[in-house]
Amino acid sequence: MGLKENIKKVRAGIDAAARAAGRDPAGVTLLAATKTQSSDTIRAAIAAGVTVCGENRVQELMAHLEDNAYEGAQVHFIGHLQTNKVKYVVGRVELIHSVSSEKLLRAIAAQADRLGLVQDLLLEVNLAGEASKSGFAPTDVTDAARLAASLNGVRLRGLMCIPPAAQAPGENFPYFESLRRLAVDIRQKIVDNNIDIDLLSMGMSGDYFDAVAAGSTCVRVGSALFGPRAPMAFTHD
Ligand SMILES: *Cc1c(COP(=O)(O)O)cnc(C)c1O
Repeated sequence: MGLKENIKKVRAGIDAAARAAGRDPAGVTLLAATKTQSSDTIRAAIAAGVTVCGENRVQELMAHLEDNAYEGAQVHFIGHLQTNKVKYVVGRVELIHSVSSEKLLRAIAAQADRLGLVQDLLLEVNLAGEASKSGFAPTDVTDAARLAASLNGVRLRGLMCIPPAAQAPGENFPYFESLRRLAVDIRQKIVDNNIDIDLLSMGMSGDYFDAVAAGSTCVRVGSALFGPRAPMAFTHD
């Protein structure tokens, strides 16, 4: 399947996009979105240079953890997370990208506090107001960030978005640019040492070039690395 070549190619694309935007390529993490992949494929990706894996489903995360599949890399949670599954994720991943409601934020904080740890997280923003996707409305993100700053057990690190699938190059740039501006705006409004809005998780196989141009610090790439998957809803876990 040419996993090694795909990783090289995507990394080169990220680097080129960063340089074209006058950015340091080292400022962009390539996260491998590993949903539906086997533990062996994950190991192969890590052996080929992947440093961060992103899981979408709690069940897959648990199975791969059990297999020690992530050895040598970080694992992040990037999928829709139900409040009753928070206990399987908190403390087991370096970063939760997909905190999509205040209820979920409070549940993560409570669980982390119970375990005596601090969970790093991002707030997911539903920029296009899509009913099929989770996330805070852009107008609600600042309040959610204030809540995160007030809670023990969590440390807000930035924002994440999943815009509509791009049909053409350049199409999603405005979404990515608006997420970047939102982060700047929150940074100006809230000065608190419990939050640090410096991470922007944005860009996927079809649009990572635009995301990097707009300031992404982490692109989440699946099919461009692993090949096409059977269709699956983003919200399923
Ligand atoms: C699957 C997934 C990706 C990667 O999607 P591709 O189009 O395969 O690159 C990125 N982010 C999230 C949240 C995902 O679920």
